Amino acid sequence: MTYIDTHTHLHFEEFDGDREAVITRAREAGVAQIITLGTGLTSSTQTLEIARRRPHVFAAAGIHPSEAHLAAPGDVDAIRDLAKQEAKIVAIGEIGLDFYWDKTYHREQYQMFRAMLRIARELAMPVAIHNRSAQREMQWFFQEEKITTLDGVMHCFAGEVIDARFYLEMGLHISFTADITFPNFSRGEVLKFVPLDRLLLETDSPFIPPSPLRKQRNEPANVVYVAEKLAEIHRKPREEIARITTGNARRLFRLPQE
Ligand SMILES: [Zn+2]
Ligand SMILES: [Zn+2]
Repeated sequence: MTYIDTHTHLHFEEFDGDREAVITRAREAGVAQIITLGTGLTSSTQTLEIARRRPHVFAAAGIHPSEAHLAAPGDVDAIRDLAKQEAKIVAIGEIGLDFYWDKTYHREQYQMFRAMLRIARELAMPVAIHNRSAQREMQWFFQEEKITTLDGVMHCFAGEVIDARFYLEMGLHISFTADITFPNFSRGEVLKFVPLDRLLLETDSPFIPPSPLRKQRNEPANVVYVAEKLAEIHRKPREEIARITTGNARRLFRLPQE
């Protein structure tokens, strides 16, 4: 059985002590490929370095909405150059809108998101989109920008069925983290609603550990818990969820078959 963790941040200092062991554990748990995402120019370069040395780890380069106001003038061009030149970079991300953590720099977030989407379009690459406390604003933004189709994923999906429908109609994929394993998770409807052929698995580690491992640092091996929960919801064997989501991730991010 093989899984793909489509969203982690292996460059974070939480992994400094045992990064190699974390990657090995994921491999042993059946995680065939991992995509590790940058959140700014420096971390995008770091993720690339991590990916370069390991055949089954891939990188994404982008500027996260929470770092949009910190970016230097040349950073956007540097992200473009990196994504253009490096075969190990398979997506533009993490990009998007976050009005939960940041209530001050909305204008900078919109500008950065627009610039990152432009790079993705120019290079014909998929995007990994972060959307926190900006469900309505994200949809208004796409409408205003006249963006009706997009290749990529809404990561750590926090919306309802009506929101999922909007993004699915644009052609986007939807991925869930282990927050779906929490006892207080209340959006079971949306888990059922997202069709299997648009579904991806992720950990967003080191954040969001699955319910049984609460308070621990999360890591890519735990993507298995996300698959388990989705298997339960869809009343399918875990093998089938693993197989379908692995195929989806490989198609979207053009990953090798191994
Ligand atoms: Zn995110
Ligand atoms: Zn993330």
